[in-house]
Amino acid sequence: MAERSTSGAPAKRSVRRRFSRRKGCRFCADSTLKIDYKEVRNLRYFVTERGKIVPRRISGNCAEHQRKIREAIKRARNIALLPFTAGHSLD
Ligand SMILES: [Zn+2]
Repeated sequence: MAERSTSGAPAKRSVRRRFSRRKGCRFCADSTLKIDYKEVRNLRYFVTERGKIVPRRISGNCAEHQRKIREAIKRARNIALLPFTAGHSLD
């Protein structure tokens, strides 16, 4: 008799995907979009609330642009436009 553990996560397998399959990265798709460390509003999209860089799987960027994003974020961090981590704020 196989005892099935019912504690923990239910084995619910939803096939539905949250993210629509967007293969190409937005920067390849739209060449007018710039990756600039000064464009914090754009960069924010690629940084989590905790200050981590969103992985490529999620951002959907191609390797090349993801690298540029990463560079821009690092640069922005260095001039304190973006936080390194979320540890310092009081709220
Ligand atoms: Zn790209």
